[in-house]
Amino acid sequence: MLFDFGGTLDADGVHWSPRFHAAYRAVGGGLDFAAFDSFFKASDEALTRLPGIRTLGFRAAIDAQARLVVGLLPDRVDAGVLAQRLHAEALEIVARNRPILERLARRYRLGVVSNFTGNLRPCLEELGLARFFAVLSDSAVVGWSKPDPRIFAHTLAALQALPQRAWMVGDNFEADIRAAAGLGLRTCWLAPSDRAPPGGEVVPTARISRFPDVERVLE
Ligand SMILES: [Mg+2]
Repeated sequence: MLFDFGGTLDADGVHWSPRFHAAYRAVGGGLDFAAFDSFFKASDEALTRLPGIRTLGFRAAIDAQARLVVGLLPDRVDAGVLAQRLHAEALEIVARNRPILERLARRYRLGVVSNFTGNLRPCLEELGLARFFAVLSDSAVVGWSKPDPRIFAHTLAALQALPQRAWMVGDNFEADIRAAAGLGLRTCWLAPSDRAPPGGEVVPTARISRFPDVERVLE
């Protein structure tokens, strides 16, 4: 079984950008999502170039990105408070998901396929999740990013798993679901129930709005 990380294991299908925006509004920020998102995308870019990024754990990575985005924003908010809020929310979801991954790891070989910044392993170690996964494919380390099929093929080969017998669970329809379905994997799309699937011929094998429902899908 393959899993995405951000938005899948640490939030029920909510991407990083809207989570940062919600935390920014909660600490007094005034921009709407569309305006905020352009600054967030710039901070994403800057994060990949940050010296030492590959060693940053989860909390340090959130702190770093909060500082970067707040440094770009036109209004003044406290990056530390913003980061604290995001981190606490993610930890709650991770704590809820940890026993589920522990059970799945007893029945299946698990891997993570993530478009990340080279520090997927320290992040998952800090969250107490790394031990459940036989393979961690971090795009910045392996050299391919989803939806490139090579990052999925690389991960399946490392797990010695056939695509037809594998699942991909993720929150990003294009990167996680469409790409994996194209390789013949079964797919489970994690998305809030009000999110419309994009048009087209790809239909996920299953759809859930909370990560814990993944166990029900597999039965
Ligand atoms: Mg994701």
